[in-house]
Amino acid sequence: MASVEFAPNQAKTEAITAHVLWMTVGLSCEGDSVAMTSATNPSLEDIITGAIPGMPKVVVHNQVIAFDYGDDYAQAWYDAQEGKLDPFVLVIEGSLGNEKINGDGHWTGFHYDKETGQPITTNEWIDRLAPKAAAVVAIGTCATYGGIPAMKNNPTGAMGVRDYLGWNWKSKAGIPIVNIPGCPAQPDNMTEMLMYLVFALAGMGPVPELDEAGRPTHLFGRTAHESCNRAAFYESGNFATEYGSDHRCLVKLGCKGPVVKCNVPLRGWQSGVGGCPNVGGICMACTMPGFPDKYMPFMEEATNAKISSFAAKYTYGAVLRWGRKQSIKRTYDIEPEWRHNRAELTTGYTKTW
Ligand code: SF4
Ligand code: SF4
Ligand code: SF4
Repeated sequence: MASVEFAPNQAKTEAITAHVLWMTVGLSCEGDSVAMTSATNPSLEDIITGAIPGMPKVVVHNQVIAFDYGDDYAQAWYDAQEGKLDPFVLVIEGSLGNEKINGDGHWTGFHYDKETGQPITTNEWIDRLAPKAAAVVAIGTCATYGGIPAMKNNPTGAMGVRDYLGWNWKSKAGIPIVNIPGCPAQPDNMTEMLMYLVFALAGMGPVPELDEAGRPTHLFGRTAHESCNRAAFYESGNFATEYGSDHRCLVKLGCKGPVVKCNVPLRGWQSGVGGCPNVGGICMACTMPGFPDKYMPFMEEATNAKISSFAAKYTYGAVLRWGRKQSIKRTYDIEPEWRHNRAELTTGYTKTW
């Protein structure tokens, strides 16, 4: 567990402008940046227009939403390298290819060396900027744990940011690498954590507690199953065997929610709506360090789940289903008998005046 708080005498009470340098140039599809634009709580617009009371000014540099391009866009990275942007949060999206095994080329890069004309690799940018960043955030499962590009048999040696910098690495402000996994990461998880970090850098709040896998515990403390709106169907052994079943659990279709830490079924996807199993899609475990290899094949029931779902269906689940159905039918779906329009009061009320 890692929790970091700024001591009061370290607080930066003066107004700051926090820069967010968001690199989408790992082995990335930019899906996290695209998802982030649909955040609502808070929205990206709330953050960059200063709509959140007390929040320091924030400038977000991200090529998916940037107006500038080419040298103009890249200038912020050089400014950060030279210490002209302080404080800044370095956000990394996409996994990092192992440039020690890149042959004669490179896996990923951003901008180029003006003297040699050669691309500057993403990993080199991290080497240049991470020591100067107030905080480093890995966004999306590719950047946190390697994700899809880091599957077994991949040729790039892809890895997450903690694998690259070290799991115990801390920023100059003493903050461990913050992991916000998901493929893509849930939009509000991203903007909320950026907001918390900016407040923390201004000395106006703590850095949220992180778990052993670098995830904020308040976001990833529950399994998808524990927040799923179909969880009661699992408990009572009511399982779907084909898609399109509204009132059943999806575990037999391959849902991995019981062994996945994710708040998407609780938080929804956009404006509180959606959330994989809530709306009929199996959980494929996209937030997990073991994703994807340890959860494949996706569309088959996991071995452990077979045991517990069998027990739920054929032992206590059947009893629960029958008992609750009878309780509802015989007791709770019927109004109390004292509600009538006869000329008598049968509520049990005793007149005391
Ligand atoms: Fe794309 Fe998913 Fe990787 Fe994000 S985690 S870059 S959405 S593949
Ligand atoms: Fe759990 Fe998945 Fe079933 Fe929801 S659909 S209750 S997450 S197994
Ligand atoms: Fe990924 Fe499962 Fe969470 Fe959906 S519910 S975002 S598939 S971990």
